[in-house]
Amino acid sequence: ERPIKTLEKAIMETKEDRENVRVRNAVVHWFKCDLRTRDNKGLHLASEKAKSAGVPLIAMYLVSPQDFQAHLTSPARVDFILRSLEVLKADLSELDIPLYVETVEKRKQIPHRIVELCEKWGVSHIFCNTEYEVDELRREAALTRNCLQRGIAFATVPDTCVVSPGELSSKGTGSQFAVYSPWFRAWCAYLNSHQSDLNEYPRPEKNPISARECFKDLFECPIPSAPPNKQLSVEEKKRFRSMWPPGEHEAAQRLQKFISQRINKYSESRNLPAGNSTAVISVHLASGTLAARTCIGEARNANTSKSMDAGNPNIMSWISEIAWRDFYKHVLAHWPYICMSKSFKPEYTDIHWEYNAEHFQAWTEGKTGYPIVDAAMRQLNHTGYMHNRCRMIVASFLSKDLLIDWRMGERYFMEHLIDGDFASNNGGWGFSSSTGVDPQPYFRIFNPLLQSEKFDLDGAYIKKWVPELRDLKGGKNGPVHDPYGRKADNVAEKNGYPRPVVEHKFARDRALARYKEGLGRA
Ligand code: FAD
Repeated sequence: ERPIKTLEKAIMETKEDRENVRVRNAVVHWFKCDLRTRDNKGLHLASEKAKSAGVPLIAMYLVSPQDFQAHLTSPARVDFILRSLEVLKADLSELDIPLYVETVEKRKQIPHRIVELCEKWGVSHIFCNTEYEVDELRREAALTRNCLQRGIAFATVPDTCVVSPGELSSKGTGSQFAVYSPWFRAWCAYLNSHQSDLNEYPRPEKNPISARECFKDLFECPIPSAPPNKQLSVEEKKRFRSMWPPGEHEAAQRLQKFISQRINKYSESRNLPAGNSTAVISVHLASGTLAARTCIGEARNANTSKSMDAGNPNIMSWISEIAWRDFYKHVLAHWPYICMSKSFKPEYTDIHWEYNAEHFQAWTEGKTGYPIVDAAMRQLNHTGYMHNRCRMIVASFLSKDLLIDWRMGERYFMEHLIDGDFASNNGGWGFSSSTGVDPQPYFRIFNPLLQSEKFDLDGAYIKKWVPELRDLKGGKNGPVHDPYGRKADNVAEKNGYPRPVVEHKFARDRALARYKEGLGRA
């Protein structure tokens, strides 16, 4: 049975009981990927419940090293989450709401531990926002059942998407769309007719003062440090912390700055990795220090039209990118087998991949001899972030030029991205390797040299990340794009820049043949 169905069934079982739960002494909001007080549906509902029952609200976050391990959460992302928890704890504390954070070693123990803590605190209701990964859905189904047995009401509510999975279906078949364009039309139509869905949920109200008295120890509990296998070195800590300030206030500032200063150039500049042209808010959306709903609401307010698909083309374009995030989460909720390392398109399961360890290592280290690929991989390794155009270029290069199983790249990304998000990452890899939902056709193979000239003409991005090529000329046919090509001199060689690990024309023909062969076997 699909995990979302299991959860829905478990929720149905408790639905009637929920309102009959006797009022105890507290209400809990369980934070997961929603580390903010602004525009947070689950937190708002919890606060309303606490207010109407006249009891305190407690916030809880459980750190699970096994979860970090299983979800391949990068150490930079773990550090960002823990730092965001510090900000959240301080904000909640001002509202007299304690944030209790505990490490639970075994992930399977989480539903049990939540109920145990809630019994101890005398909690009547638990709220959280739904996440759509299979593990999360199963965990929430288990928690629903545990709560039912103990007479605690549990509500998990849709919040992470702007339009929740299940709201849109193809008019013809009634099923979930597997193609973005018709899905996006339905998404716009839905929001155009449900404008109030974009209203922000108010921040929680201040707790009654009694919370400080009854739950003093919860206010005092510290945020734990990162589990041993997710620790950053001292140098990395310094670097990531200066690049990625945590928390919802930083997220709000970034969003506001982007919308007031840069969104009007988004269409023309969003593909240029050298410029500061995109919002760079993915880390906040992934950790929930910012809501996707807030982004769309703010973009709509800045637009000349209140419709999602009309008005300023730059704003429409940005809205459609946020919609991609929703699209991939809908896909995950409807086809959970993508969580199990399976291609969305089964006909692409049987491609004969090369498992060339040297090539893979060269790719991870940014030493393939293709400057745009190497610049991008070095940006990822240094910052935990990569520009979207470059994510597509390096994913295409790994899966097609090097013909290496896209799942190895998907994994490497998760292990290094600070904005790692299963659905978007899996969707992006599926798109670029032509094995996913609504992908590039397999015969569309990026030429890294042409991509480089098109999107980094003067070579500013390459020069920033590949210092060996800093003195090479950019422009059309410039050697910075192809340092061992026709216009090469000996600078690249002298600076120790590697020669290309494969020749693109050969690699292209090989990929076309292998994909065709794989399809033939399917
Ligand atoms: P903007 O251009 O300002 O867009 C705003 C927001 O829209 C982004 O923050 C993001 O939440 C969403 N968005 C934009 N483009 C996409 C897209 N193609 N797919 C899904 N959502 C999108 N994004 C992640 O958040 N986490 C990932 O792990 C991730 N892995 C990716 C892997 C590959 C191979 C590819 C091709 C794309 C991946 N993306 C991922 C999508 C995209 O590259 C990033 O969201 C984007 O680069 C973030 O920068 P930004 O915030 O400046 O984006």
